[in-house]
Amino acid sequence: MKITSIIGGGVLSAVLAACSSNLFFPIPSANSDNIRAHVEYLASDALAGRQTGSAGYREAADYVADQFRRLGLESITGDDYFQQVPFRRATWGEHTATFQLHGREGDIRFDAGQDFFAAPPITDEDTAVSAGLVFVGYGIEAPEYGVDDYAGLDLQGKIAVVLDGRPRQLPTEVGAHYASGRTKRETAARHGAVGYIVLNTPAREARRPFARSAAHINDPQFDWLRADGVPGNAIRGFHPGVVLDMPAAKQLFIGAPRSLDTVFTEMENHLVPKGFPLPYSATLSSGAEHEQIASANVVGLLPGADPRLRDEYVVFSAHLDHIGMDRPAGGDGGNHDLINNGAQDNAAGIAVMLEVARLFVESGRAPRRSILFVAVTGEEEGLLGSDYFAQHPPVPPKSLVANINLDMPMLLYPFRDVIAFGAEHSSLGETAAHAAARAGLKLSPDPMPEQVIFVRSDHYSFVRRGVPSIYLISGREAIDSNIDGTEAQVNFLKTRYHSPGDEADSQVNYVAAQQFAEVNYVIAREVTDGDRAPRWNRGDFFGDLYRQQ
Ligand SMILES: [Zn+2]
Repeated sequence: MKITSIIGGGVLSAVLAACSSNLFFPIPSANSDNIRAHVEYLASDALAGRQTGSAGYREAADYVADQFRRLGLESITGDDYFQQVPFRRATWGEHTATFQLHGREGDIRFDAGQDFFAAPPITDEDTAVSAGLVFVGYGIEAPEYGVDDYAGLDLQGKIAVVLDGRPRQLPTEVGAHYASGRTKRETAARHGAVGYIVLNTPAREARRPFARSAAHINDPQFDWLRADGVPGNAIRGFHPGVVLDMPAAKQLFIGAPRSLDTVFTEMENHLVPKGFPLPYSATLSSGAEHEQIASANVVGLLPGADPRLRDEYVVFSAHLDHIGMDRPAGGDGGNHDLINNGAQDNAAGIAVMLEVARLFVESGRAPRRSILFVAVTGEEEGLLGSDYFAQHPPVPPKSLVANINLDMPMLLYPFRDVIAFGAEHSSLGETAAHAAARAGLKLSPDPMPEQVIFVRSDHYSFVRRGVPSIYLISGREAIDSNIDGTEAQVNFLKTRYHSPGDEADSQVNYVAAQQFAEVNYVIAREVTDGDRAPRWNRGDFFGDLYRQQ
């Protein structure tokens, strides 16, 4: 990976030499007691898991606003640090989803939660579509990588039937962009499709069993609302679709040119399955109850001091929301902890952001560019608060020059290295390498590229508006050689992540928190004070795709 080559050989010394001398500021000491106090408050049971729109979230937002006030940050949203985000929440209520297949032999009715998964529809309260089915392979249109799944297929007025995932020839992060539900739906709609069926595959089943997704069938859906009341991510006239499990999916291919098993074999052999019309039509219907709620991003401004640069803004972000409470399961006598405290995810990120803000304020040296510290809502519901902020910034959109994001930093042990997501895409990679070196840390390559973290946290909302972004987590090399960092991180992900076990207890290491705040301060200081604003690497896929938006 490129991150390794940045720190290897003579590149680092070249980077160091290239940095202008005004970047050799002292590194202040972060205060781990401050960070601990923030984490212990935000992850306390009283805040009940900080779900978007909940009372616990509002208390957390009040706390962050109060911290901004104490630090002397300015409010520029006209509402005491709050940027209220209008949300729609969709729940099933009395409604359900239905899916019927119509063929020569008659109709087949599939069961919600068993054969297929659907979410309560967010755009319309009642939605139904009846149309012919066309299999479109992975449903990806990336001719520059030799993938053009819609070539020769007529989708006008049809339902697109799409394999989950992507072919191997797409680079990981580019592939994650194309394989996202958002991109695939937009591509299908652009070709005239009126609905969308995703097929579970052996690869997806291995990664995330269908039963686990189906268990979330009663989760509410969220989207932010535009001024005209339309959801921000709506595709008009397009049924949001269903995910079909494999046994049911195979029935769509009976009598088709190739069976679904043949298609799966092609996938296994890294061929790109070609699409074809299926000998069926289908009726999809679903309904939901909609309610409008508000939940706030919290925004504090630290004005820049350089008259030439202070109209440029560096956004320092972390999500404040988490996933709330688990539903009580029957028969446990009510003794189980149901509160998802979200200490690492992401009380720790907010706490580090607040400490970095304090370091800036107390350094006695204002940054040259301005900084917006932003605690965002709606991350767990699909990066929604950051998406709203990036599309409705309180300053001119073109004045946002960089995003530094913090999400679940994995503060589990004092560490020797950090991982920087997004480092390969822009000059922020050099900045991160340089900052890590100054903080006595190494930059390590992403240990879990298959997770494509780059497209899965709030910085991606800024990437999609053309803003170069970087996001660090702690690496897997512990300073204490008795600690196996990989094991500790994997163990956290298995046993505590998104569960009531993510508590503000001894799992949170505050020496690591201090290290993490300091390296992020250095990155932020280099970005705010550098002569040039961060820029996308020449020819970068994401830079080229989103630069002018
Ligand atoms: Zn999370």
